[in-house]
Amino acid sequence: MPLKGYEVTLEDFRPMQERCSNCLGCKFVPFEKIKSHRFSRNCPSIWYYNFNTYSARGRFQLGQTLQDGYVDWNGQALDAVFNCQACGACDIGCKITRFNLEPLAHNIALKERAVEKGLAPPALEAAARQLSSQKTMLPGVKKEDRTAWASECKLKDLSAGETAAYAFFPGCQYAYNPVLQCKARSQVKILLDAGVDLGFFGNGDMCCGGRAKQMGFREAFEQEAGYNAKIWAKIPGIKLVTPCADCYHAIKRQYPALGYNVEVVHTSELICDLIKKGKLKFRKDLNLTVTYHDPCHLGRLGEPFEAWEGTEKKVLNQIHTWEPRRPRYAGTDGVYDAPREILNGIPGLRLVEMERIRENSWCCGAGGGCGLFNETYALSVAGERVTEALSTGARTIVTGCPWCEINLKTACTGGTIDVVDIMDLVAQSLS
Ligand code: SF4
Ligand code: SF4
Repeated sequence: MPLKGYEVTLEDFRPMQERCSNCLGCKFVPFEKIKSHRFSRNCPSIWYYNFNTYSARGRFQLGQTLQDGYVDWNGQALDAVFNCQACGACDIGCKITRFNLEPLAHNIALKERAVEKGLAPPALEAAARQLSSQKTMLPGVKKEDRTAWASECKLKDLSAGETAAYAFFPGCQYAYNPVLQCKARSQVKILLDAGVDLGFFGNGDMCCGGRAKQMGFREAFEQEAGYNAKIWAKIPGIKLVTPCADCYHAIKRQYPALGYNVEVVHTSELICDLIKKGKLKFRKDLNLTVTYHDPCHLGRLGEPFEAWEGTEKKVLNQIHTWEPRRPRYAGTDGVYDAPREILNGIPGLRLVEMERIRENSWCCGAGGGCGLFNETYALSVAGERVTEALSTGARTIVTGCPWCEINLKTACTGGTIDVVDIMDLVAQSLS
């Protein structure tokens, strides 16, 4: 069977569904990385629902039985299909024990089939309609207001013929959310003050489409990707800088699978580089103890895409393998060091780590659009992360993604712990 790693449908996963060995690697942090029983789980879905069908293993079985017609695409099946954050923790766990299964891609293929059948939760359908009409999934906003946040910024206008080394791609949250817009302006000012040759495409670029993909709206994602890639192609060699983990993942990992190759860096990577070059110097002592939450789409899912096309083979009529060897995304090459180096460089700041970090980080709960149709679940997952953060003694959670920031903040009732973006601390220490 020829597979390219992206152009796959649910049927293509049949051999993987059959080969899943029920080893439980998709449900727990890899055993050698577990530090305590309390924080040993990796999959939010099986952790919350405590029923096998809500795990990657269970979804392999569900996919098989749905294809064979033993179960219908009914409410119970759809509940298991969509209550998955697409966080990829199962995929990393599975890669430890198996090299030839793709549980995350299978989970998303299940969602895609349900979307094709018109069976997505109404809230997700509404978000997809908003994306189609306003080029963002955020409700109640209009595409012509996408640049309002930047009216006072001295960014070059790349849609008007100017050129720059970097284009700032804020993502929908920073572009529209009134609480975050001032942060986007602050980030741009820091980069400009450090001498970065920076512009933006204004109303040219739109939603990256990454969350649509996570939710099963593959066609919508492909439309957004094609639209953005066409705009960015007007300036050959342009590099994007984004403060959003979802955008980073979409552009770094998913766009190349469609043939769109544009270099992208996360703001933390660019800031770290500027510090090393002596273009930014922290001044203020912050006197804080913080812990860092690795966003799934910046960390384990932020690894670069590797093109592959090949064929599945059987060795000794028993062992499945691929020719040539398939890329193995183990999650270890994501963006982990840059944010930690920044934090460790801020005077008076002490970084204490949670138990589930880097490629084994616990999801913030907002992934896969779960917060749109099942807020109780999304916030329970966030609450579990807040509990883990509190166990470190820190009173501030730092992250590098607006979706994580919002969901974790919403789960922090009673002001037990503060949640900030890494750029907030950078701004504070520079001022
Ligand atoms: S880790 Fe992989 S092989 Fe093991 S049960 Fe989970 S999906 Fe199946
Ligand atoms: S993607 Fe995340 S929520 Fe979905 S099955 Fe895998 S670990 Fe669980």
